[in-house]
Amino acid sequence: MIIVLRIEPFILFLYQVKKMGKRVMIALGGNAIKQPHELGSYEEQMDNVKVACEQIAEIARQGYEVAITHGNGPQVGNLAIQQEQGAHMVPVQPLFILGSMTQGQIGYMMQQSLNNELASDGKDVATIVTQVVVGKDDPDFDAPSKPVGPYYAEETAKKLGSENGWLVKQVRPNGEKTWRRVVPSPKPLAIAESSVIKRLVESGTVVIASGGGGIPVLRNGSGKLEGVDAVIDKDRAGAKLAEEVAADIYLILTDVEYALKNFGTDDEEPVREVSVNETRKLISEGHFKAGSMGPKMEAALGFVVDGGDHAIITSLDKAVDALMGKTGTHIVPN
Ligand code: ADP
Ligand code: MG
Repeated sequence: MIIVLRIEPFILFLYQVKKMGKRVMIALGGNAIKQPHELGSYEEQMDNVKVACEQIAEIARQGYEVAITHGNGPQVGNLAIQQEQGAHMVPVQPLFILGSMTQGQIGYMMQQSLNNELASDGKDVATIVTQVVVGKDDPDFDAPSKPVGPYYAEETAKKLGSENGWLVKQVRPNGEKTWRRVVPSPKPLAIAESSVIKRLVESGTVVIASGGGGIPVLRNGSGKLEGVDAVIDKDRAGAKLAEEVAADIYLILTDVEYALKNFGTDDEEPVREVSVNETRKLISEGHFKAGSMGPKMEAALGFVVDGGDHAIITSLDKAVDALMGKTGTHIVPN
């Protein structure tokens, strides 16, 4: 009995030492800010953000260095409607500007929530407006694939398309409004602000960055950055940022506790711990859907292949348990 009492604190101490200084990059899914049944009022979004930030604050309190990225799909969608409806009064802004607006909007809500949670722990919180560099020659610029903004009837879509120079496509088979604008979804090549983000994280600041996958920018003919209308996948950009800030762990938080094998069948089975090779095999067997779990598994894999220690996919409410190894899908080098 005496031995047990002495060993337990020692093991706990070792656990703390192992964790100390570990850096985690967290990617927050859409539900953390707006749930599908909600319209997206300020109050609804703030309530969701508070719940998410309680989890993140707990991770920071446990001694992890934390950087966070988040989605912005519903917020950009709502802003796009406001742009369109106000077009006869104030000039419409390009999509990359809407991206920057939502980084400020969501960054503000998270920064305030985290501040309220962490001020007494002496932790600073900051949001960085983040540009993500993409390649002019990315194949997605020739074949845009990412639907953005509201759904329209065919006629409206085509009219808006020709007025604004948008590519519009039918994106669902039937219904009244089946058309949407589609934009390229290029691969993130570099995070323009990564060195300042890294310095902040190293100094113990909780940093919110690269929201919505980052503001997509290209290098023009003279090597200068300029915005481009595109949407970078936030899980992919998160993996890139995780690499650039030298995170040990890339933690993707969504609305499911595990990535599932045989998703949507009677043989669904949680993926618990998988190596890089096992992950590649599962991806090639088609267990994860494009546009949802697919990019998460690929981003998690990419992070570990490029030298990251460990990637985790789980639900927001299981974040702390998953970091302790109790649940979630874990992708490890071997
Ligand atoms: P987020 O907003 O967090 O990016 P997504 O909706 O893009 O969330 O991705 C999470 C969703 O992925 C789940 O709710 C689920 O419907 C879907 N999904 C697709 N394939 C799988 C799979 N193999 N296992 C678990 N969930 C999957
Ligand atoms: Mg998603």
